[in-house]
Amino acid sequence: MIFDEEINQIIRNIKPSGIRKFFDIAATRKNVVSLGVGEPDFITPWHIREAAIYAIEKGRTFYTGNKGLPALRKGICDYYRRRFNVSYEPEDNVIVTVGGSEAIDIVLRTILKPGDEVILPTPAYVAYRAIIEMAGGKVVEVELKEEDRFKLTARDFEKAVTDKTKAVILNFPGNPTGGVMSREDYARIVPIIKKHNIFAITDEIYAELTYEGTHCSIAEYEEIKDQTIVINGFSKAYSMTGYRVGYILAHKDLIDMIVKIHQYTIMCATTSSQYAAIEAVNNGDADIERMAESFRQRRNFIVKELNRIGLKTHMPEGAFYVFPSIKISGLGSEEFCEKLLDQENLALVPGNAFGQAGEGYVRISYAYSLDEIKTAIEKLEHFLNNGIR
Ligand code: PMP
Repeated sequence: MIFDEEINQIIRNIKPSGIRKFFDIAATRKNVVSLGVGEPDFITPWHIREAAIYAIEKGRTFYTGNKGLPALRKGICDYYRRRFNVSYEPEDNVIVTVGGSEAIDIVLRTILKPGDEVILPTPAYVAYRAIIEMAGGKVVEVELKEEDRFKLTARDFEKAVTDKTKAVILNFPGNPTGGVMSREDYARIVPIIKKHNIFAITDEIYAELTYEGTHCSIAEYEEIKDQTIVINGFSKAYSMTGYRVGYILAHKDLIDMIVKIHQYTIMCATTSSQYAAIEAVNNGDADIERMAESFRQRRNFIVKELNRIGLKTHMPEGAFYVFPSIKISGLGSEEFCEKLLDQENLALVPGNAFGQAGEGYVRISYAYSLDEIKTAIEKLEHFLNNGIR
C-alpha cells in the first residue's frame, strides 16, 4: 500500500465485503456451483425492457430532474398506496436514486454526524455497516435470534438505545435471514422509536417477496411517519438489478436535504432505466406475483431438503435466502464454506460475513433454478455424509 498515510483512516479500516472475498476465490476455480449471489434469476419482463428500448429509440437520452421523472415519482406513490396502503406525495416526498444502494448511502450521509450511533440488527446486509462507518457513524449491533424468527424484539431494541442513537435500520423481509416483521411486531417497537425520537430507516427492497400474508411497512404508523425513511427499489421485485433504480420516501424536509447530496454526486438516475421503472410500477403487479410464486416454491423445496440432510433450517417468511445452521458440522462458518468449496465446488456465503451474529450459519440464495438447487443439495449431502476433511 503506497499511500498508507494519505488515505482517509475510515476508508482504510473498512473491511472488504465478506461476500466478495469469497466469490473472488470461487471465480478462480472451474465448475463451481454457486448459490451465493443475491439477485433474481429472471430476465426483466419484456414489456419493461421494451419501455427502456423505446425511451432510447425516441431520443430520451438527456438528464432528468434531480429527483427523477415526475411520472416515475407519481407511479411510485400510487404503488405504495395500492400495495402497502401508505401515502406519499410525488412532489414532496420522493427521490429516485441509483438503486437502493445509493439510497442507503445518501440517507445515512444526510442524517449522521460523527459519533452518532445507528442501531443495526444483525445478521445484516453487508453494505449497512460500511456505509454507516463511511458517514462517520458508529454501528451498535443488536442480535436477531433464530428463536425469535429473526425479528427485532422490543426488549433487545430498547436495550441498545443510548442518548447518541440517531437511527435504527430495519430490513424486513431481511437479507440474509428472510425474517419478516408483522404489524403486531412493529406495534411493539414503534413506541420506542417515538419515545427516543430516532429515525426508522426501513429498507423494503424485499417487500414483494413476502410469503405469509402481505408486507407491512412501518411507514403505516402515522405517529412516527415524519421520522420514517423508506428505501426501496426495482432490483428484486421486478428483477431489474442491472437498471440501477431505487428510491427514498420521506418527509419533505428530509428529501430537500437528501437531494443536495444526490444532485452534486449523481445528478439523476439513468434516464432509460427510469422509463423502464415507470412501466414496472404502473403495469408490473402481475410480474411481481408470478416471480414471487416461483420463489415461494423454491423456498419450500430447499427448506425441506436442507432439514432432510440434517442442516436445521428455519422457514424464512420473505426474501430469497435461507439461513441454515451449520453448527452440527463443528466448523466455523468460514471454514465450512472454504472446505465446501474445496471439496465439493459449491459456493455459499459464510454467515459471519453479515456480522458476528451470523456465525454458525451460512446464507444460501435460492434465486437459482431448481436444477441448480438440487445439485447444491446433493453436494451438501455428500459433504456432510462423507467426512469433512
Ligand atoms: N438492500 C438490501 C437488503 C439488499 O439485499 C440489496 C441488494 N443485495 C440492496 C439494498 C441494494 O440493491 P440495489 O442497489 O440493487 O437496489
